Amino acid sequence: MPGDMQQQNAICRLLAPLTARGYTWLKKLKPDSFPRVVIVETTSRCNLRCPICPRDKMKRQAGDMPPEIFEPVVEELARHDEREELELVILHFFGDPLMHPRIIDMIEQIGSRVPNLRKLGEQRDPMRGLSTSTNALLLDEDKVEALLDSKLTWLGIAMDATSEMIYRSMHGSKRWDMLVHNVECLLEANAARPRHLPTIGLQIIRTADTAAEIETFRARWERYTNSAQNVQIVIKPFTNWAGQIDRPAADPWYFTTPCAWPWRTLVVCSDGQVAPCCYDMDCTMRLGKVPEQTLEEIWNSEPLHRLREQLRSGRLDGLELCHHCDEARTHLRRLLP
Ligand code: SF4
Repeated sequence: MPGDMQQQNAICRLLAPLTARGYTWLKKLKPDSFPRVVIVETTSRCNLRCPICPRDKMKRQAGDMPPEIFEPVVEELARHDEREELELVILHFFGDPLMHPRIIDMIEQIGSRVPNLRKLGEQRDPMRGLSTSTNALLLDEDKVEALLDSKLTWLGIAMDATSEMIYRSMHGSKRWDMLVHNVECLLEANAARPRHLPTIGLQIIRTADTAAEIETFRARWERYTNSAQNVQIVIKPFTNWAGQIDRPAADPWYFTTPCAWPWRTLVVCSDGQVAPCCYDMDCTMRLGKVPEQTLEEIWNSEPLHRLREQLRSGRLDGLELCHHCDEARTHLRRLLP
């Protein structure tokens, strides 16, 4: 990091307690009785090694979530769905869900227990409903039919490219043609029998490589987005995963402002460990474990209270991820005209 940037960073860190407290006071942050968003890592195995993902550095053992973990989680989520406390359940984290041999059954199992989430999914908002996302390389004819007929309300397709060259820079794979073929099969099957849900989100992450390609991406798939109400283009911002992957330096001037994740979200990893956000890939924040504890117990536990308090006060000692995370920052540049 150049010297002047180091200096600016040091000043921002020094001001952190002041700006974080001011923000907390303005926003009156208060946790809900249960997380509105629950991420369930159905598998942590993946068939890609993407340069835009820190998964290569994951230290925990990759594996599929077993029924002893999945079933109690579903039961607990069903109880909270009944009380309309959930907004979003996502069925993937650091793995591709189609790697799990029972993924279709798992979607069915949870989908039939969360009718209120299904209703929210009708809003076609990726932040509401029962969702998952896949790199689509394992999509075959059977999976296409099963996913389209499933109780998912949102099916994200991580494409992130318009050519093999860009696909390689984003996902480290040469199988661009296979991906395009699989996505066309999915969209043709969707067009052949129009349906309301799931909404299919064709995703591209905006990076230095893809920024100039976004309109080409839109045009490439507009035949499908124009003809089916449940197909959308989704443009996602790039993240450096709280400093876990290299990218050009972030804006140096920022205010520390507590991120909203520990007030809204829990992540259940495939081995039952629980994390507060998508960035804690190895569950380093040690919040707890299911099924030994319920999600509700973890949500109200001392480690999570402590994390909220640290974020609220801007004293992030021992929270290296949070120190480098854009979610805990408001960049000055964004506030200026
Ligand atoms: S600031 Fe910390 S808790 Fe919040 S999203 Fe980033 S790493 Fe997670």
